[in-house]
Amino acid sequence: MLFKSKKRISVRTIGDPVLSRVADPVIDVDADTLCLAQEMYEAMVAFNGIGLAAPQYGVSKRMVVIDVPADSVQGDPTPGEEQLLPRMPLVLVNPEILSYSTNKAVRDEGCLSVPDLYAPVERPEKVILRSATLDGEIIECECGGLLGRCIQHELDHLDGILFTDRLSPEAAREAAGGIKRLRRLGESKSFMRTKSIK
Ligand code: ZN
Repeated sequence: MLFKSKKRISVRTIGDPVLSRVADPVIDVDADTLCLAQEMYEAMVAFNGIGLAAPQYGVSKRMVVIDVPADSVQGDPTPGEEQLLPRMPLVLVNPEILSYSTNKAVRDEGCLSVPDLYAPVERPEKVILRSATLDGEIIECECGGLLGRCIQHELDHLDGILFTDRLSPEAAREAAGGIKRLRRLGESKSFMRTKSIK
């Protein structure tokens, strides 16, 4: 066929008000929720992410999709990494963090909503996650490593927080110019980055 049907898929970028809103709980997993999860997954893949929260897709709901690579484990895996990494990609519905470790770790982060900007963020090394899945199963486990970080980053999106809000004063100073440019660019594109997928 000469013309293949292409779908345009968009992710919201820094400056869009939906990214600074506290998202609403998912009341029940209906056909619309399943459809949203599927579209969020497609967007995450199209933009090469390892996680995407619904607000980044323009929907202020407490749902995230994660796809953390199995080979991201360093040293002994946490119970969460053992349990969840073999199940990727995974959709978390109304996820919450029950507790944070006192130990912290610093690692560079990036975000599909803050294109091409990477900066070091200090976060608790491990968290205890509780979440429903699309099937209504309740997951509760301690997650560390890249998984623990990804969960914290994505859940921040549900509370209207971007990783750029969590930078040290020094990292914030270094990133300030880039953030300003991204906001200005975003304004000219209605805070959307778009890709065509087959
Ligand atoms: Zn993000």
